[in-house]
Amino acid sequence: MTPMPEKVAITVARGDGIGPEIMDATLQILEKCGAALAFEEIEIGKAVYERGFSSGIEPGSWDSLRRTKVFLKAPITTPQGGGFNSLNVTIRKTLGMFANVRPCVSYHPYVDTKHPGMDVVIVRENEEDLYAGIEHRQTDDVYQCLKLISRPGSEKIVRYAFEYARKSGRNKVTCLSKDNIMKLTDGLFHDVFDEIGAEYPDIEKDHWIIDIGAARLADTPEIFDVVVMPNLYGDILSDVAAQITGSVGLGGSSNIGQHCAMFEAIHGSAPDISGKGIANPSGLLLGAVMMLNHIGQTEEAERVHNAWLKTIEDGVHTGDIYKEGLSTKRVGTSEFASAVVDRLGQVPTKLKAIEYDKTTSACFVLPQLKSMPPTDKLTVGVDVFVHFRGTADELAAGVQKNLMKGIDLKIITNRGVKVWPGGMPETFCSDHWRIRFVPTHADRMSHREIVEILTGISAAGFDFIKTENLCTFDGERGYSLAQGE
Ligand code: NAD
Repeated sequence: MTPMPEKVAITVARGDGIGPEIMDATLQILEKCGAALAFEEIEIGKAVYERGFSSGIEPGSWDSLRRTKVFLKAPITTPQGGGFNSLNVTIRKTLGMFANVRPCVSYHPYVDTKHPGMDVVIVRENEEDLYAGIEHRQTDDVYQCLKLISRPGSEKIVRYAFEYARKSGRNKVTCLSKDNIMKLTDGLFHDVFDEIGAEYPDIEKDHWIIDIGAARLADTPEIFDVVVMPNLYGDILSDVAAQITGSVGLGGSSNIGQHCAMFEAIHGSAPDISGKGIANPSGLLLGAVMMLNHIGQTEEAERVHNAWLKTIEDGVHTGDIYKEGLSTKRVGTSEFASAVVDRLGQVPTKLKAIEYDKTTSACFVLPQLKSMPPTDKLTVGVDVFVHFRGTADELAAGVQKNLMKGIDLKIITNRGVKVWPGGMPETFCSDHWRIRFVPTHADRMSHREIVEILTGISAAGFDFIKTENLCTFDGERGYSLAQGE
C-alpha cells in the first residue's frame, strides 16, 4: 500500500456574504479529490471588525498564517467609511505577497462570452501604488493620496511576470502604465519592465499606455497573454478581464510572496445574493487549484481542474452563467460542488484538458534584486505647500516679504498648474498652493535653509501643510516641472 502523504496545513477563512457558501462547496471538493490537507480555520471580516479590530483580523490569527504560510480565503465585506483598514490589503502587505496573479479564461461555447479565444493572465503588483494607504486631508478643499512606486517593488513584480510566463509556456508579457503623464512613478515601472525584459529574449514584450491598453483588453483580449501592471490598474482591469470571460464568479487568484501565499476568488462577498445558495463557487475553487499547485499537489490540482471543466462542459451551471440553449441544468452552489465531485477522475472532451507539470512545483525562487549603487543626491530646492484662501499675487507678495537672502521664489502652482508669475485669470484655484523655492547663488539648498524658509512663511501668517525636497540624483532631475513652468 502506498503510504499516505503527510498532510499540508492550510489556514482557511470563510469570510462574509457568499463566502461561507462558496467555501463549503470548495472544501467539499478538496476533501473528495484526494488532496492531503489539514485545515486550520480562522475568523476574519465583518464580525471581527465589529468586535473592534480595525483590520478585520484578530492578533492570534497571524500565528496560524505565519505557521502554515498558505491561506485559502473567502471574500469578506469591507466596512465603508473611516476607522477601518482593508483586510485584504493588510494581509497582502503584512505577509509580503507582492504578486497577485489572476488568470482570466473564457470557456466558449459552454459559457456565453463575446471573447471566445480569451486566455489572459493579469499579474498585478500588490503592495505599492495608491494602496500604500497614506492619505491626508490637507486643506478645507483638498485631500491627498500618495502614490508610491519603488524600484525593488517594480523589479519583483516585473520579474515575477516574466518568470511566470516562462514557466507556464506563455509567449508574451505586456506592461500597462500611464508613464506619459506620471513620468517618474509609472515611468520607473516602465523602465524596469524594459530593463528586466531584456533578460528574457525568448519572450515577446510590449508596452501600452493604460487607457488604450484597457480599451484593447476589453475589446480584443486575444492579443494579450501575460499582462503586468501597477496595483490600481491591475485591480480594476482584472475584474474587467474576469467579467468578460462570462462572469466575475469564474476567476480565481493567487497572492504570492517570498514567505507566504494566499488564494482566493477575484470577486467580493456579493451581499446581493448571499444566503440564497446560488453563488458560483468556481472562483474560489480555481483559487484552490492554484493553491494545490503551489504546495506541489499537482495531480490533485489537475484532477479538480479537469472535473470542473467537465462540469462546465456538461452545461451544469450556476445562475450567473446559466443560459438557455447553452446550459443543460441550473444548479445552486452545493449542487454544483456535488456535480464536480461526481466528475473527479474525468477530463473534458471538448474543452482542452489541463495537464500540469508534475516534475516541478509552481513555486519559483526569484533571483536576488539587482543591487543599485547609491546615487549622488543633491537637494536643489524645496516645494512648500500652504493652505490659503486668497489670490496668487497676495500669496507671492506675503511670502516674499520674509524671504531670506540667497533664496528665490520661483513659481507658485495650484493643483499643479502655474498661477504665478504670469498666471491666467481662467485658472481655477483651490485653497491648496505649492510654492517652489530655489537657491540663487548656490547649486544646493541646505536643511537649515529649508527650516528658515518655513519660519519666514509661518511668520508671514501662512499655514504651511507640507514640504517636498527637490533633488537631483546623479544630476538627473527627481521631480516634475509644473504645468506651464
Ligand atoms: P462583488 O464582486 O461582491 O459583486 C459584484 C457582482 O457580481 C454582484 O452582482 C454579485 O452578485 C456578482 N457576483 C460576485 N461573485 C459572484 C459569484 N461567485 N457568483 C455569482 N455572482 C457573483 O462586488 P461588490 O458588490 O462591489 O462588493 C461586495 C463586497 O465585497 C464589498 O464589501 C467589497 O469591499 C468586498 N470585496 C471583497 C473582496 C475580497 O474579499 N477579496 C474583493 C472585492 C470586493
